[in-house]
Amino acid sequence: MTSPESRQRKKIIPYSRPSVSSAEIQEVRKVLRSGWLTTGPAVERFERAFAEKVGARFAVAFSSGTSALVGACAAAGVGSADRFITTTMSFVASANCGRYFGAAADLVDVEEPTLNVSAAAIEQAMRQNTRAVVAVHYQGHPVDLAAISEVCRRRGAVLIEDAAHALGARYRDSVIGDCRYSDLCAFSFHPTKLITTGEGGMVTTNREDFDERLRRFRNHGMVRRPELEPWEYDCPELSFNWRLSDVHSAMGLAQLARSDGLLARRREIAAYYNERFAACDALITPVEEPECLHAYHIYVLRFRYDRLTINRRGMFERLKAASIVPQVHYRPIHRHSQYQALGYEASAFGVAEAAYGQMFSMPMYPDLTQREARYVADTVCRLVEENRRD
Ligand SMILES: *Cc1c(COP(=O)(O)O)cnc(C)c1O
Repeated sequence: MTSPESRQRKKIIPYSRPSVSSAEIQEVRKVLRSGWLTTGPAVERFERAFAEKVGARFAVAFSSGTSALVGACAAAGVGSADRFITTTMSFVASANCGRYFGAAADLVDVEEPTLNVSAAAIEQAMRQNTRAVVAVHYQGHPVDLAAISEVCRRRGAVLIEDAAHALGARYRDSVIGDCRYSDLCAFSFHPTKLITTGEGGMVTTNREDFDERLRRFRNHGMVRRPELEPWEYDCPELSFNWRLSDVHSAMGLAQLARSDGLLARRREIAAYYNERFAACDALITPVEEPECLHAYHIYVLRFRYDRLTINRRGMFERLKAASIVPQVHYRPIHRHSQYQALGYEASAFGVAEAAYGQMFSMPMYPDLTQREARYVADTVCRLVEENRRD
């Protein structure tokens, strides 16, 4: 037997879906015929266009957002005697990135209502050997960069922004990625993110020495030595091949050219959801603080199950039966078994734990139609109404 919901709608509405237009297909086709597939002219063009878009001096392309974060840690000089700070309400890469160098990750809790990390929490976690802070712009809402950069400067820590969610976001007089308040800023081009290259990432910086270290790090640590012989090169340190290809960069160029429109549509959907869900006291909607522009990489809706007669699993099943498939962002990092093994305990992360129990990432992507957005809002409001605790 089919439920009333599934009779209404068969087509699945996922939480995210990439927007790929004929422009991307054309650009990729051109590169495929150019005879140059790996790091070449398209990578350079993509890096230049990206730096210009966010207002940074330098942009260095990477094979993923994760390798971009690891590259940023390498540029920051994170080493085995160091510690670094990041937030538990993020993807595990935010905390893994410095650990590849043997550094210890200090996870901190987030704060309401943005679920971002605060400058005060960072200050409290600072130790003598804290080398870097990886500040995550969760959902695409900027952290308080001015306050956090002040703490970092005072304590001698390098500030790395994890801007995987935040292409197009703004903070005061700054575009995320311009590194006005930070040393390095890492982006991801995974298919769920604001623009995509299939897989890919980017680090921006205003420091020439960081730019050079990033370029070397992504390419086996290789240094050309033409002063010895025209063909000579040296690899003085252990590194990786974390280059982005020209094929991916061609797609990125076309996506970047469309990024303003993609962001505008996300914000339109968020404004509509916010208005619809604000009417319901069993729901907590995302906020946009003054002087901030939210990029809405994800739309995290929080359900107050203390006011409902069903639990999170029940809500998930009902949404799924209505062909709406939400996701959870994130299972806090301290919950992963490798971090449990490091001794992290849930009691230290009260805000993240409570929010985690409430959150679903609802459908949020530029190609979501107004009709679909209305269906999502109608369905959520109806499910809440039907399962309200009196
Ligand atoms: C997606 C994401 C990453 C990693 O990016 P990949 O391109 O998937 O490697 C890092 N940090 C955050 C917060 C992310 O959401």
